[in-house]
Parts: sequence; C-alpha cells; structure tokens
Amino acid sequence: MARLTAENKNLASTNDWLEGELAMSRNAIIDLMDVRGLLDGYVGLEHHKDLLAWREKALERVLDAADPRPAQQMGDWGHGERALCPLCRGGVSSPSVRGFAFPEGLRRHLLGESIPQQCQVFAAADKSIIRRIRAQVVRMGGG
Ligand SMILES: [Zn+2]
Repeated sequence: MARLTAENKNLASTNDWLEGELAMSRNAIIDLMDVRGLLDGYVGLEHHKDLLAWREKALERVLDAADPRPAQQMGDWGHGERALCPLCRGGVSSPSVRGFAFPEGLRRHLLGESIPQQCQVFAAADKSIIRRIRAQVVRMGGG
C-alpha cells in the first residue's frame, strides 16, 4: 500500500513536470509562428466564456491577416479564392493545390472542424486556454 502511494506520488510529479514542459512548448510554438500577434490575449484566461470570446476575436484577426488569391493562381481550377494559413503557412495536403478555400476552408483548418488536422499554432493557444480552464475547475472542486 505504501509502495503504491509512493508510486502515485512519483507519477503525479512526473505528470506535473510534463504538463509544464508541454506548456513551454506550446508557448514556444506561438512565439515562433505568430510573429504578428494574431493570437494575443490567450494568456491567463480561465473561463469557458473567455475562451469562446478569444476564439472569435483570434479567428477574425487570422482571417483578416490572410492573403486570399484567385483559386486559379493557387493551382485550383475552381472558382473563388484560396489562402495559405497566416499562422502555420499551411494548406490542404495536395501536391498541386495551395492554401485553403477562403474563408470557409481556412476557418475549418483553424478550428479543426471536419478536417483531419487542426492548425497546430492555433491549437497550441486554444489548448493552453483549455488546460487552464480545467485546472481552474479542479481548484474550484469540480471536474
Ligand atoms: Zn494553420
């Protein structure tokens, strides 16, 4: 029994250490990739309503910062416009088509909706807020 308790304590401290490392890595991703400060305001949020408000503002700033081009310039023979992600400079995984359909495809990439991979830069800020909300819920005795 005492051995299990000690083991649990070890696991808990390893977990705390890893969480700290992960938080530092997320901040580094954001600092390195978000040179224009499009994700500003994500630090210190602890409530779900703040997360939703931040998401809306950040999404608007990132979409505003995009540089949409006619689809044909981006290798797509369809109509409309396409844009690279201003945060990760990514696009759909295709050898010939660049960027995301603008604005809806880029919006889905940022929020991770109905596409396999969410923008890792946007996700780094999003997940760091979610982690603080969870920690806050635990402190308040919930969760
Ligand atoms: Zn992206």
